[in-house]
Amino acid sequence: MKYLDLVELTKEKPAYTKAGVKPGDFGAVMSEKAIDGKWQVVFSEFYTGKDIADIMVNEEDLKVHDDVPMDRYPKKLKQIKPSMVLCYDEPFKSMKGNIKEFLPTTYEWTKDLNWKDLIHFKWEKQNKNVSGLNENNFKYFKYDDPYVKDQLVKCSICGHIAMQDQYGNGECKNCGWKFSKDEELLEKKAGISYPMLVTPTTAREQYKKGLPFKATFDEFVNGLYFYSEMLFEYNNEVYEVFLRANKNSKSNEDCDIVFCSNGMQQEYKTRQDFESKANIGGILLKDLWGKVNNPSYMYCG
Ligand SMILES: [Zn+2]
Repeated sequence: MKYLDLVELTKEKPAYTKAGVKPGDFGAVMSEKAIDGKWQVVFSEFYTGKDIADIMVNEEDLKVHDDVPMDRYPKKLKQIKPSMVLCYDEPFKSMKGNIKEFLPTTYEWTKDLNWKDLIHFKWEKQNKNVSGLNENNFKYFKYDDPYVKDQLVKCSICGHIAMQDQYGNGECKNCGWKFSKDEELLEKKAGISYPMLVTPTTAREQYKKGLPFKATFDEFVNGLYFYSEMLFEYNNEVYEVFLRANKNSKSNEDCDIVFCSNGMQQEYKTRQDFESKANIGGILLKDLWGKVNNPSYMYCG
């Protein structure tokens, strides 16, 4: 299971029922990794796309699909008996009822286009749901950026006004804090934050002291157990720390820890071992942490 996988709920549990979801409902995985075997899943209504719930779900209660299975379409259509089905592009064969295409079929739409417009059309068709693109580039397809930050919230670090998207991910222009909706939960469960790594609690202390946000050594190691692979810079050199499974490893917690850069490599058996002994040129890593730059996971934003 991974970020943005299409998943179906397969089990009924009071927590799910309370949130308004039932077995057979579909959603998208919104977390990068499982936390205690649970994934954040946003469930939405089939035809309206309206969000029903945004909850943590046990991995064993989910089934991953490549596409919404075709047999779900007619079944669902029978249930809601729509007077019209608006189809964004060419309808599936199994779609029944009063189908109106939102756009002409690709052929109808493209047969009179010159080659430049045809290329543009194909590009738009492929990219219309990709976030981060400039909507002004879309000529044929109306493009609503689902990740547009248009909601005002109070920054949890400095208290100024910050902007977030509909999923609760956002950024504060005043202090530079980047946040996700479940930051308090992630701090509690894993001792980190996403996408910043440094926890909100540490970030608030650093903001008060006028310091830039930076993960503590302990948070960096928390990040190692969450992401399995971490980086930092020291004296213009990049250092990597990663977990390596050994024959007795059953989870991240009993993997070996490898600490390396160009020309050096150290290996440790336990977290405690790594924290108390990892060193650069004989100086303990925990003691020179103040001089370390950009402690982050591999693709830290
Ligand atoms: Zn702020």
